[in-house]
Amino acid sequence: MSLAGLDAGLVERSADARPLFDRIAFVGIGLINGSLARDARRLGLAGRLVATARRRETLDEALALGLVDEVTGDAALAVRDADLVVLGVPVGASGEAARAIAPFLRPDAVVTDVGSVKARVIDLVAPHLDMRRFVPGHPVAGAETSGPAAAVEHLFRDRWCILTPRGDTDPAAAERVAALWRAVGAKVETMGAAQHDKVLAAVSHLPHLLAFNAVNTAGDVEDALQGEVLKYAAGGFRDFTRIAGADPAMWRDVFLHNKPAVLELIGRYVENLSALQRSIRRNEADALFASFASARAIHRGEARAGGASSPGTP
Ligand code: NAP
Repeated sequence: MSLAGLDAGLVERSADARPLFDRIAFVGIGLINGSLARDARRLGLAGRLVATARRRETLDEALALGLVDEVTGDAALAVRDADLVVLGVPVGASGEAARAIAPFLRPDAVVTDVGSVKARVIDLVAPHLDMRRFVPGHPVAGAETSGPAAAVEHLFRDRWCILTPRGDTDPAAAERVAALWRAVGAKVETMGAAQHDKVLAAVSHLPHLLAFNAVNTAGDVEDALQGEVLKYAAGGFRDFTRIAGADPAMWRDVFLHNKPAVLELIGRYVENLSALQRSIRRNEADALFASFASARAIHRGEARAGGASSPGTP
């Protein structure tokens, strides 16, 4: 489901366009919030941009890089007078961030977040925020880098941003958040939080788990093979090592807070892996070929014969 007109793509704003917000407060200012701040500043999307974070170094860096107009270690000061607040902290820290800012929010302030998991974030912030004006969000864009120095322009251009408003979310608040993402070039989609978490478990969370595990497994045999393994990393494995370079705290939180969806997918993955293992052991050439051909068909966007994903799929 799309909000009306949300897929218009990036339209560079004219110099005299009115800002979408008076003041945007970023709670956490790393890769995602920093990149959003960069674009918001470049495009004049807010009258003023302010950031808060726990560590002085983070704030000094954000200011020195020109991501925002002002920084403060005091979350209350940051959000006071803001008409939009964007939570950009690890998923598990969302509840505490919401609790810290709640008493100081403008009554009409819209609060959103960029967390990679949605149902748990909603549960964590709900005790603290007026949920009519909380618009859960997740830009499906990123990198394995983190911190303010990782912030780049155009990170969200032509990428999905998924909003997961609830039945009680004020549609005007959702539309304001959608307009922000649209302005930085994202394609905005809405879906339920549970659906989001299942979809992202398949296309992002499980693949990251595989990358972490593949790299650790190569590391395990590195010693036995006298350091002769990782130096030959090339092609696909380089992508694994790149993905495995992502922030451990962020990913720990993703798995702990999207448990049912990732456990369900790990179960399916292990079944498929066992089937492949058996096919290799038994020299089942046709079964292996069928499995790899099925994967290639998905990659090429082709329909798969019989709809089977691989041997052993229920
Ligand atoms: P990041 O670059 O590491 O930035 C995180 C920010 O949160 C920093 O300002 C950090 O500053 C602060 N922070 C870290 N731990 C905290 C804690 N326990 N309590 C309060 N503040 C904390 O992370 P990011 O990649 O931007 O990720 C931010 C959010 O975006 C996460 O929820 C993540 O799931 C989501 N996301 C990430 C990606 C990606 O590819 N990285 C993509 C889409 C969505 P201080 O340490 O100074 O407080």
